[in-house]
Amino acid sequence: MTIPRKRDSQTETGSGEAGSPAQRAAVLRQTLNRASHEYYVLDRPALSDADYDRSFRELQKLETAYPELRTVDSPTQRVGAEPQSALAKHTHSIPMLSLANAFDDAELRAWEERLIRVAGDDITRSGYSAELKIDGAAVSLTYDDGVLVVGATRGNGTIGEDVTANIRTVRDVPLRLTGAPPGRIEVRGEIYFPFDQFERMNEARVAAGEPVFANPRNASAGSLRQLDPSITASRPLRFFGYAVAFDDPAKLPFKTQSELLQALRSWGIPVAPHALRCNSLDEVAVWAHGVEHELRAVLNFAIDGGVVKVDSLRLQDELGVVGGREPRWAIARKFAPDIAETRLAAIEVNVGRTGQLNPYAVLEPVEIGGTTVRLATLHNEQLVRDKDLRVGDVVQVKRAGDVIPQVIGPVPERRNGSERPWSMPSRCPVCDTPVERDADLAAIYCPNVACPGRQLEAMVYFASRGAMDIRGLSYARIEQLLQAGLVHDVADLYTLTTDDVLGLDGFQQKSATTLVAAIDASKSQPLSRLLTALGIPHVGETAARLLARHFGSLNALSSASVDQIEAIRGLGDVIAQSVASFFHDPSVRALLRKLDQAGVTLDEPTQVAASGALSGQTVVITGTLPTLSRSQAAALIEANGGRITSSVSKATTFVLAGTDPGSKLEKANTLGVPILDESELLHRIGQ
Ligand code: NAD
Repeated sequence: MTIPRKRDSQTETGSGEAGSPAQRAAVLRQTLNRASHEYYVLDRPALSDADYDRSFRELQKLETAYPELRTVDSPTQRVGAEPQSALAKHTHSIPMLSLANAFDDAELRAWEERLIRVAGDDITRSGYSAELKIDGAAVSLTYDDGVLVVGATRGNGTIGEDVTANIRTVRDVPLRLTGAPPGRIEVRGEIYFPFDQFERMNEARVAAGEPVFANPRNASAGSLRQLDPSITASRPLRFFGYAVAFDDPAKLPFKTQSELLQALRSWGIPVAPHALRCNSLDEVAVWAHGVEHELRAVLNFAIDGGVVKVDSLRLQDELGVVGGREPRWAIARKFAPDIAETRLAAIEVNVGRTGQLNPYAVLEPVEIGGTTVRLATLHNEQLVRDKDLRVGDVVQVKRAGDVIPQVIGPVPERRNGSERPWSMPSRCPVCDTPVERDADLAAIYCPNVACPGRQLEAMVYFASRGAMDIRGLSYARIEQLLQAGLVHDVADLYTLTTDDVLGLDGFQQKSATTLVAAIDASKSQPLSRLLTALGIPHVGETAARLLARHFGSLNALSSASVDQIEAIRGLGDVIAQSVASFFHDPSVRALLRKLDQAGVTLDEPTQVAASGALSGQTVVITGTLPTLSRSQAAALIEANGGRITSSVSKATTFVLAGTDPGSKLEKANTLGVPILDESELLHRIGQ
């Protein structure tokens, strides 16, 4: 199919047409003002933040080069947008400002140099407070003698909307402060929507036939500006405070921004985690790097950067405000966006190992956080329908850490009428067998057990790390073996010879011998690995280990009844039914006979007694460990008396974390559960 022309952010602002600087500035002003209205007033942005920031930068540069082009209505001179809802207006006693941006470390240094020119070496003596930049909606909360009296949005910085009734419904905004707050004080911070709650709310909205929110920021701003507080109350909004506005700062009981954050905590205001007092800008840069490349992927709320603030409040006061819009003493260190827009070129279908047909998005390649994304998961047919995705749509794509890229949704405003709705094919795209629909699961299957698409996925899964762990047997290699007709099922892998493999493209004597040796070595994997590798529906690594340990041999397991399987602690009736019917299938029995004849181990080694350094401890594993695979780590922990569970709770003794951990790490942090790395684990068990 023809791939539509890549959308170019430059065409958005019309930079292609040369024109004069004045014409260009006018186009940029118009684009940015329209975008601000859509973003702040309608809570429905049509432009990505990165595109907005790029155009904003361009306008700023033009205005610096040609100061006469700077008009009063320029977005560079204003904060936010005029409040236009039916909510009552609220005038801020001290304006709520925006922030200047630094897009890299060099811009951060240029900012410090400017500060030093104004305030001298006091700047370096003061140090900085580095904080997460929460991507939510800015609010001001006024407390009179510790009691919440007004809650207002930022609006245009001078006039916002009075959302007191709505703010009162936000669970973690204290209605009364604790400790010893000053008589009247304004606490400023951000209302945000946690990711997990956001997902859940969108799912519920889909179920109720309501439109989904584009992102958590829009959801928080939109929820906050409801006319009916009961609607706000039904949205799980949260709050983080990071500033105060006070008539006479000299009277405040703290002298630095870091102490201010402590004071907020002592008054019962939630403060975002991971703030750090830094002695130098080098420390800030290291912190920002860690936040962008490690922390950001595991947080349960959206951030779009870090905020760096001169720590001394006296210096902050001295440095003042630039152009009425942004404080000189603070700057946003923006991160590369993890959301980008691109064109959905096609929706294709992949056949899973169970035969389920899964749609995925073929995208025009787009850079997200330093990686080029070409494909994204679409999960199932229902999701495509719920999101109303059409081939040719401009879509928003998200990639966070190692998570598979996801299509957030289309940008309907960018449609031109050429987009085409999509539906599941009626025949398997690999073997052309008519597909079948599973009514319960709303899933569509290729019923052909011998479908090469299914076999390919089944073999990839069989060889994968947590299963038989056959190093070097990649997706492409398996495709080659299948295409050459050398294998038809997983048992055939064990009859491959070096000569067979040498006949394939790209193999030399050494690589062929290595691959055959790796396949051969996998024969001695314990039964639990084989059970995982077979891909029995509902049986993952944990269930496989329980089954293998309980029955000890494939022979015993394959003749067990549903009741016998269900009697194992930790296994329910769904798994029991699934396992029993799997082993009744004649084609499965034939496959197992072939595996047996090939010499594959069908027993589980007897476990070491459940005593040892980790006896009685419950452990959760997350992320990629430096040397051990997850299954190796699990086996080690169990061999030392520990128990593996999949979710973090107060009962978890510790979380074993590697690189790119999931939300489990965040949960452990929240619950105060200790986090160990691989070397600490090995140390604990005396290795
Ligand atoms: P901003 O969001 O870049 O930065 C200022 C805001 O950061 C503050 O008002 C405050 O609310 C918030 N903030 C979060 N954590 C903070 C912390 N720890 N300390 C201090 N402040 C913190 O600036 P802005 O003026 O609100 O908005 C401009 C940005 O909004 C643009 O850079 C762009 O990304 C986005 N925008 C996008 C569109 C669009 O169409 N996509 C339109 C307008 C604005």
